[in-house]
Amino acid sequence: MSQQPDLMDRIVSLCKRRGFVFQASEIYGGLSSCYDYGPLGVELKRNVKEQWWRAMVTSRRDIVGLDSAILQSPRVWQTSGHVEGFSDPLVDCKNCKARFRADHLEGDACPSCGQVGTMTEPRAFNLMFRTFMGPMEDSAATVYLRPETAQGIFTNFLNVMNSARLKPPFGVAQIGKSFRNEITPGNFVFRTREFEQMEMEYFVPPDEEDKWYEYWIQERFDWYQRLGIRKDKLRLRVHGDDELAHYSSGCTDVEYQFPFGWGELEGIAKRGSFDLGRHSEASGVGLSFFDEQTKERWTPHVIEPAGGCDRTAMTFLVDAYEEQEVGKDAKGVADVRTVLHFDPRIAPITVAVFPLVKKAGMPELADEIEGRLRVAGFRTFYDQKGAIGRRYRRQDEVGTPWCVTVDGESVDAEPEQATVTIRDRDSMDQQRVRVADVVDWLRDKMPN
Ligand code: ATP
Repeated sequence: MSQQPDLMDRIVSLCKRRGFVFQASEIYGGLSSCYDYGPLGVELKRNVKEQWWRAMVTSRRDIVGLDSAILQSPRVWQTSGHVEGFSDPLVDCKNCKARFRADHLEGDACPSCGQVGTMTEPRAFNLMFRTFMGPMEDSAATVYLRPETAQGIFTNFLNVMNSARLKPPFGVAQIGKSFRNEITPGNFVFRTREFEQMEMEYFVPPDEEDKWYEYWIQERFDWYQRLGIRKDKLRLRVHGDDELAHYSSGCTDVEYQFPFGWGELEGIAKRGSFDLGRHSEASGVGLSFFDEQTKERWTPHVIEPAGGCDRTAMTFLVDAYEEQEVGKDAKGVADVRTVLHFDPRIAPITVAVFPLVKKAGMPELADEIEGRLRVAGFRTFYDQKGAIGRRYRRQDEVGTPWCVTVDGESVDAEPEQATVTIRDRDSMDQQRVRVADVVDWLRDKMPN
């Protein structure tokens, strides 16, 4: 496996320089492994969520959405097994005091100080963040920040099924923040303590479980590729029996080959009737389905595709990143441009509009075109400062698929005949398009 740590450093530095991701609380020295998304990062993440929501909810008839609270009754987490069992094995190095997740260690030398055989026996460390509700800081007031969004879907099973008049197979999707007090966060936004999840619980008749499991594995694997992630960087990994949660009879991860190795993007799990069964038992409310036709009552089984928004956004960044040699200068020195080859649906800015120079009516026409594109729903950017070549490079670096430039020809022609150039980020080709056709030209180029 090729490891390219400095590539990751260059991507992190681009993220900061161009406003994708900043260290949280930076002016106070930062808070470890917490990140803030800047103006471009927030658009990138919104696009990831928008594409997921489209694929999972709005393009289908069988899945609806939900937005449940981060704070839930502590009984939810007692019943789901999180209070007792949502823990990772923690070990300490007796020599340098560094802490690690035992299942992430290879061999018995400490990754921090290099000493062999200095690790303590593993002990279970619960990953849930605890806080207090109301003015009393005692155990009666303890609540947890949710470590996954899924439980809010299970506890609302009847509310959603009855209000939306659904019948299995159907799904409930949710995007929202989750919190885990990870022992070893790291690799930028890959593993953090506060992150956003995109989860969907698909409720099926028990005898259709395997069929839907296979369906969702394929569907989710394809989703990343449809949005331009390179196929050879993706793989499916089936969990071994020793990795499976006690309630699960199967789990397959979608993994991506990051510069630091293969990492999970999403898990597709068979959860059986475990969650609905446990919550029915503990709450006394029967979370089951009554089939009016057969007069039978049964508990649906669940297939869960659970992904991470931050990891997915980072995957798009890493996969799109290229340092490309585009020529040599007179002295033979390579001219390298940094470019993010985002799919246009993922790119934070869809189209940038420039006047070639800041005079002769060009800024006015460029401003008008940009306004028109904005009204048409494109994410636009206007820039009139500096050499045009440098402006193109700046857009390449943040992955803007198209740049529209207003030049002398544009302002000299009769208004109906006026044209602009549109430059393609990947090929760097430019073509002239009538001003009147710019909106339609770009609409035509946008993938569905
Ligand atoms: P891991 O084994 O890496 O700790 P997991 O198998 O516990 O992850 P799940 O509980 O299946 O993860 O969570 C579903 C998804 O949520 C993951 O595939 C990942 O994309 C995302 N996710 C989980 N934990 C984190 C985290 N600490 N930081 C960022 N994203 C996370």
